[in-house]
Amino acid sequence: MSQPAKPWVIGNWKMNLDRRAAETLAKEVADDPACGAVIRVGLAPPFPYLERVAEILGHGPVTLLGQDLHSEPRGAYTGSVSGPMLRDMGVTHVLVGHSERRRLHGEDDDMIRRKITAAVKAGLTPVVCVGEDLAQRESQRAMTTITAQVEAALPADGWPGQGEILVAYEPVWAIGTGHVAGREQVAEIHAGIRRLLPGHARILYGGSVDPDNAASLAREEEIDGLLVGSASLSAASFLAIVRATTQA
Ligand code: PEP
Repeated sequence: MSQPAKPWVIGNWKMNLDRRAAETLAKEVADDPACGAVIRVGLAPPFPYLERVAEILGHGPVTLLGQDLHSEPRGAYTGSVSGPMLRDMGVTHVLVGHSERRRLHGEDDDMIRRKITAAVKAGLTPVVCVGEDLAQRESQRAMTTITAQVEAALPADGWPGQGEILVAYEPVWAIGTGHVAGREQVAEIHAGIRRLLPGHARILYGGSVDPDNAASLAREEEIDGLLVGSASLSAASFLAIVRATTQA
């Protein structure tokens, strides 16, 4: 009988921490026995710290993610980082379409689809981020918005075979605001996303997850894991979320 898939807990450090703090945090996560036992833990450090974090994680169970990638494998794209470069650093997964990339870097659905295709070509698993903003939620357009985002993200030739498919539902109004989405709200959106994707897709929730709300979210059957921003910047709160998810 196949084992149930492990829930994910991914820390997105964004543009935070310095080298020393990144090393300390990565070591504390790597040394914690809860990470990898029943939970798949991942860390998405800023690009300059990837190599050092990769060394610290070694061949252990913690997954290394990029926060973004360019849609081309190489070329005259000053300041950008490509999928093959991430692979070289030991990265296996990459966030694509985070709302901060959409909003602050003008990434549209077409760009996001090209990045997903580039990630898959480079042998990386994209973690595709989708989510509605407050105006869309308040005008009952949350699911239509997310459906459009997911459909636009699908690579033209379909998701490759049995490869991992990870989507993170991150309502924009919940990111970094302290307003976590309700479990039922999340469950409804996740069920809608699941209908759009092959059966083995895994759907994570992100948006103001903290040690106090993690267990309740993780108990929801529709939630296959958590994507954590602010609360992933300290080992105490991140590992408390890992433990809460383990016990849920
Ligand atoms: C995020 O930006 O991916 C995120 C989930 O942030 P926070 O946990 O800070 O809301």
